[in-house]
Amino acid sequence: KSGFIAIIGRPNVGKSTFMNRVIGQKIAIMSDKAQTTRNKIQGVLTTKEYQMIFIDTPGIHKPKHRLGDFMVQVAENTLNEVDHILFMINADEGYGRGDQYIIDLLQKIKQPVYLIINKIDKIQPEKLMQLINQYKDFYEFEEIIPISALEGNNVDHLLEVLAKQL
Ligand code: GDP
Ligand code: MG
Repeated sequence: KSGFIAIIGRPNVGKSTFMNRVIGQKIAIMSDKAQTTRNKIQGVLTTKEYQMIFIDTPGIHKPKHRLGDFMVQVAENTLNEVDHILFMINADEGYGRGDQYIIDLLQKIKQPVYLIINKIDKIQPEKLMQLINQYKDFYEFEEIIPISALEGNNVDHLLEVLAKQL
C-alpha cells in the first residue's frame, strides 16, 4: 500500500515538526528554503505495511500578484492529485484569516481532508472541544485529529488512520 499525502496550513502551525517526528530526520527543514518550487517531496515513510509520501504544497495563501495566482493554481492541482490532505492548525492560535482562505480552496477539492489540530500540549481540553466544534461547521472533514507534533501525542493514531485509507 502507498499513497501521497499533502500537508497544508499557515506558517508555524508545526508542519515541519510533524514531518521531522514522522520521518525521524531533518528533511523537512530544507524545504523551507524552496518556497517557490512546486510539489516538493518532504519525506517518505516506509514501513512493512505501507509507504506514505508526504508532499509540501507551497502557494496556499491569498495571491498578492499574478505569479501568486499561478502558485495557487499549482497548489490546487496538487491537492486534487494526492490521496489525502492534512490541514494543520495551531490549537494555541485557533481560527485566523489564513485558515478561511484555505477552507475556501478546500471546497473545490474532492480529496479527503483531515483536520489536524496541533500543539494540544499548549491548551486545555475545553479549548480543544471549542476548536473541534468551531471547525466542524467550516468544512466536512474526513476526521478531526488532535496531536502534539512536538511531544508526539496521538501521532501514531494519525498514521494508523491514514494507513487504513491507503
Ligand atoms: P511550520 O512553519 O508549519 O513548518 O512550523 P514548524 O514545524 O517550523 O513549527 C513552528 C514552531 O512551533 C516551532 O517553534 C516548533 O517547535 C513549534 N511546535 C511545533 N509543533 C508543536 C507542538 O506540538 N507543541 C508545541 N508546544 N510547539 C510546537
Ligand atoms: Mg515548515
